[in-house]
Amino acid sequence: MRMAEINPIVVSDSAYDELEQYLRKEAFTNCTVVSDEQTHAAAGAEVAARARAAGLRVREIVLSPGEVVADEVRLIEILRQTSPEDELFIAAGSGTITDMTRFVSFKLGVPFVSCPTAASVDGFTSIGAPLVLKGIKQTVISQPPLAMFADTNVLCGAPPEMTAAGYGDIIGKITSLADWKIGRLLWNEPYDESIAERTQKAIDACVKHRHEIGTGTAAGVEILMHALVESGLCLVDFGESRPASGAEHHLSHFWEMQLLRDGRPAILHGAKVGVATVIIAQLYERIASISREGLAERLAGVHFPSLSSEKDAIHSAYGSYAEQLIQSSDFLDFDQEKVREIRERIVKHWGEIQDIAAAVPKAREVAGLLRDADAPTTASDLGLSAELENAAYRYAHYLRNRFTSVKLARFLGIHS
Ligand SMILES: [Zn+2]
Repeated sequence: MRMAEINPIVVSDSAYDELEQYLRKEAFTNCTVVSDEQTHAAAGAEVAARARAAGLRVREIVLSPGEVVADEVRLIEILRQTSPEDELFIAAGSGTITDMTRFVSFKLGVPFVSCPTAASVDGFTSIGAPLVLKGIKQTVISQPPLAMFADTNVLCGAPPEMTAAGYGDIIGKITSLADWKIGRLLWNEPYDESIAERTQKAIDACVKHRHEIGTGTAAGVEILMHALVESGLCLVDFGESRPASGAEHHLSHFWEMQLLRDGRPAILHGAKVGVATVIIAQLYERIASISREGLAERLAGVHFPSLSSEKDAIHSAYGSYAEQLIQSSDFLDFDQEKVREIRERIVKHWGEIQDIAAAVPKAREVAGLLRDADAPTTASDLGLSAELENAAYRYAHYLRNRFTSVKLARFLGIHS
């Protein structure tokens, strides 16, 4: 069930004409356009001009120069420029601006409209706002936009790596869907067949047109944007991010947090997700190669670390963020009984698990799909060390209480 209609959703080279018409017909008397320096030049100024032309009083919030991370500092920067009169926010920007506008408008109890400036993430039509709060990447459920107007010329004018990142975010759905099916079998996670099918169609469309997406043609970028919109709508309809986020996203979130902790520049979300998808596809290859006899041996041979050594490991990986994670993790409470129950489920569903694993394209195929659209394929392409790659594999699964392929790997004794 859809929690709210996002209407209209426009992806075209006349999107801002439609925005102007929309604002003329809706009952708003003022709006606040949020952008940063780049997106103000690319779209914010034009969006504000269209809103004025439609008869609205317009205020503009242009974030100060410097890297824009969706954290407390930037949220306060926006909040202190809001006014009790604000009736409508318009986010003119990529994912980060949109998510902060989504969160702030929701907290102020007013709606927002999304004007994406790059086909870079699937969050524009979503309900969640991924924010970095106290250094931890978390998705705060907020609100979907009332409507979305994406101008194709603006999207095509975005830096090519942003388009490649949007494609990487879609490629990530290959392993998020597989992980979702694993979670359904082993952890009774809610599952919706029609949403899984819609997500798969979005992947298929982008894979088919990957060369056009890679060269940034208007047709390719529109197909990508529609796929990202559809993926976002799947989240709205499902009510949480499960259809679009599995182990590959947890790896990406882990890297993001580590970069932030080390004071290093951020890497585009979808670029990290694409690379992580290759790593998780490799894991599925290994799962697919385990025979039934091998399975019994592996399950019997795995001994889980004690709770205290596990907590020590989380402390060493997450530093000051560790306590919060430990408190919110169901999986740390695994007693012998729960471990036995999951082992039994793994044995019972092994045939299905192997079918799911075999249906995931091999790691080198996933890398090929990314390369075809000019997206990065390895951790070193992103400037991440082998150490950080291994740490993500080992510790990222603590970020979410979801049963992913990485959690399954721990039961199977696959360590990296
Ligand atoms: Zn994503």
